[in-house]
Amino acid sequence: MKRLAILGSTGSIGVSTLDVAARHPDRFRVVALAAGSNDALLARQCIAHRPEHAALADPDAAERLRRALAERGCATRVHGGAEALALIASLPEVDAVMAAIVGAAGLPATLAAASAGKQVLLANKEALVMSGALFMKAVAEGGATLLPIDSEHSALFQSLPRGFACGRAGELERAGVRRVLLTASGGPFRTTPVERLSAVTPQQAVAHPNWRMGRKISVDSATMMNKGLEVIEARWLFGAPLEAIGIVVHPQSVIHSMVEYRDGSVIAQLGAPDMRTPIACALAHPERIESGVTPLDFTALGALEFGRVDALRFPCVGLAREALRRGGTAPAALNAANEIAVESFLDGRLRFTAIAEVVEEVLEKVTIEELACLEQVYAADRDARALAKLSVARRASARGEAAE
Ligand code: NDP
Ligand code: MG
Repeated sequence: MKRLAILGSTGSIGVSTLDVAARHPDRFRVVALAAGSNDALLARQCIAHRPEHAALADPDAAERLRRALAERGCATRVHGGAEALALIASLPEVDAVMAAIVGAAGLPATLAAASAGKQVLLANKEALVMSGALFMKAVAEGGATLLPIDSEHSALFQSLPRGFACGRAGELERAGVRRVLLTASGGPFRTTPVERLSAVTPQQAVAHPNWRMGRKISVDSATMMNKGLEVIEARWLFGAPLEAIGIVVHPQSVIHSMVEYRDGSVIAQLGAPDMRTPIACALAHPERIESGVTPLDFTALGALEFGRVDALRFPCVGLAREALRRGGTAPAALNAANEIAVESFLDGRLRFTAIAEVVEEVLEKVTIEELACLEQVYAADRDARALAKLSVARRASARGEAAE
């Protein structure tokens, strides 16, 4: 019986994880659930899955959850406050932690799971992007096992030799890998005339053609910053140098990524675009279990297309590669600036095309340091957020004046 903690249980990945786990009550027991502030959904999840622990980062929401569960006679212990999430992630009675909090907010708890030597099922790519080498060090020192949830990284993992260990030095070289190729759908604006991009709405941006996901990652997919973050994620998970990480635009999202070997072989992983496949793959690793995903029907698929990334349309991909090249605290600054820019776009304060402009401006202004400790990651995150907020405010006031 594998005992699970699900961080971000109220989100898209969290809900899919519970769906897969509930199909296998003989294999998985949900010991802890955690989220940000959605006490209503977390209460329903606690009543359905009866975990020993539940936590909400928002203390008021935790109090509401406590009352709701007491009224329903549910014995789950409720914890409140951001620190409670790290506590949940390192509980001795937990074997595997699904790290599915969105954004930098997930870093402390994801790191805590790594340091506590858990099996870490990593969806929270921002945590790895921000802290890179330090995160991988925590995994090694804590004796944790890292399993990718991101569909592309799960696809690469599945296309690598059995026994491949994320984070072990020299693994790609030993496996005879020449390149890893991340596929990208190109999102909802792959063919939208570039001059129309500045006027697209949040509603259009979150309407991904193939995947149903949370709002932040949906906007990241529309700008393709998501693919940029995934390049950085692949660098750390697989120890791949930047030159050995390629991107192929593949609008159908059937091939989820590919590994190109030295001898010319390319091994790809295919499947329906449903996160329950990579989730089930990590939950049961190295076994295969039923996930509820409808199998691919090749006779109905039609043509699969492939193309290059249009760098003018998607400047965020180049910005992320540049941040990885600069190294140190640059990826943490990139991630923080992007989080503020995306949030501002979703709130209607920033144009879609200005997301990349804000990130670029912050990367030009922020001081980049070599990475020696976590405090630097948090400081870079804070500084970049402050610079990004100023940039957004300046742009909003310029737009206001232009409109007058
Ligand atoms: P959602 O927006 O659907 O869910 C986010 C989750 O994080 C919610 O449970 C939310 O809780 C929680 N959360 C937000 N802020 C905080 C906080 N400050 N403290 C604690 N918990 C918080 O996101 P997704 O499920 O789509 O994505 C989660 C992660 O997985 C992201 O890092 C994303 O990049 C990654 N991922 C997602 C994929 C997908 O298909 N959705 C694919 C690949 C990667 P609450 O509801 O209470 O606010
Ligand atoms: Mg992905």
